[in-house]
Amino acid sequence: MSRLSIHNGLVLLNGKFEIKDILIEDEIISKIADSVPKAEQNIDANGLHVFPGFIDAHVHFRVPGAEHKEDWKSGSKAALHGGITTVLDMPNNAPGITTVELLEKKREIVAKDAMVNYGMFFGATAENTDEIRNAERIAGVKVYMGSSTGNLLVDKLKDIEKTFMACKDKDFVAAVHAECEHMISENESALKEETGIGLHNKIRNPEVAAAATKDALELQKKIGNKLHVCHSSTNAELELVKKAKNRGGNISVEVCPHHIFLDESIGEKIGTFSRVNPPIRSRQDQQAVYKHLQNGSVDLVSTDHAPHTVEEKKQDYWKSPSGMPGIETVIPLLLNEASKDAWSLEKIGEWCSNAPARIYGIEKRGALEEGNYADVTIVDMGKEWIVKGADLFSKAKWSAFEGFPLRGSIEYTIVNGEIGFEQGAIKKCSGKEVY
Ligand SMILES: [Zn+2]
Repeated sequence: MSRLSIHNGLVLLNGKFEIKDILIEDEIISKIADSVPKAEQNIDANGLHVFPGFIDAHVHFRVPGAEHKEDWKSGSKAALHGGITTVLDMPNNAPGITTVELLEKKREIVAKDAMVNYGMFFGATAENTDEIRNAERIAGVKVYMGSSTGNLLVDKLKDIEKTFMACKDKDFVAAVHAECEHMISENESALKEETGIGLHNKIRNPEVAAAATKDALELQKKIGNKLHVCHSSTNAELELVKKAKNRGGNISVEVCPHHIFLDESIGEKIGTFSRVNPPIRSRQDQQAVYKHLQNGSVDLVSTDHAPHTVEEKKQDYWKSPSGMPGIETVIPLLLNEASKDAWSLEKIGEWCSNAPARIYGIEKRGALEEGNYADVTIVDMGKEWIVKGADLFSKAKWSAFEGFPLRGSIEYTIVNGEIGFEQGAIKKCSGKEVY
């Protein structure tokens, strides 16, 4: 048996930090107590914060089909560097993961390289409800109501309804990319003679997102399925979700770091590198997203980590693909804000560990408890550093947060009892499928 102990850390237990020791035996947390005996490997966590390993419920690790942008080796290292021990991976691959056969093939490839734990989303199409009904052990079904990277799209209400019904029957979460496809197409045709990153928030404007969110919430009310609204980016969407949650029902919503911390003025600095779906919004909407998070009307923070190469991103607006990396900076960005008292460190544990495990039904992870898998992230709130894209482990090698000074750094990332990241260095560890 391999044993690892963590001593004198501020350990997040049931929403509160307490000074405790943790003993890990093989892949399981075997004891949390005032004192545990020294093991073969020991971590002195005096003065450090010990979180349940963070879960990123929305990533694109690009396998199969776009391995030059990211693969499970580079993506895993990026996750470990960011303190993330579990990722839920999206199905907009090439080919899109829309059949059980393709899902099983993807599982085989990912199992070989994953150094963090993972779950897979299944992709919905206009006609694959039979496949959805046959799928097992998935995080949920991703429904692209508007097109994005890849060719997954379900833009007709009757098809979205059928998909939601299949999800309801299987008790799957329907995770929606809520942008209205026909409004996007109309805006694209109207603006096709123009160019520049400023176009993005005009083509995929806030109304585009609000319209689709409204449709998704109305269908959810009718069908009663579990609904998760991905990457909410405007006040209008978050108000709609809040109202729908008040009437009850299985509804949850996530926001992403680029919508929490960036507004459209970033386009003047980094141009098409800031192109992402949904777009970076006005200062007003950015502040609204931040406030909704602060006020408790958001369930979780995910990254929508969607890497593209520098060569791809620097093209003209119409050619530059949408998406940005985020998995290495999300936790530090949230920690930095906590250091300024914008919110508590406990909240970060809720948004990025407890809530994703609860909403997506990930068992024995997402909390530090005896008997759970030993996924642990240890953080030093005293350390300051500056984001440099070139130093990141993702293949993208750039960041929209370039130059941001941050307080709070990831010191250790432990996956299933193995130290996968230790004070700047990646180590050997292996992830498991969580479903
Ligand atoms: Zn995404």
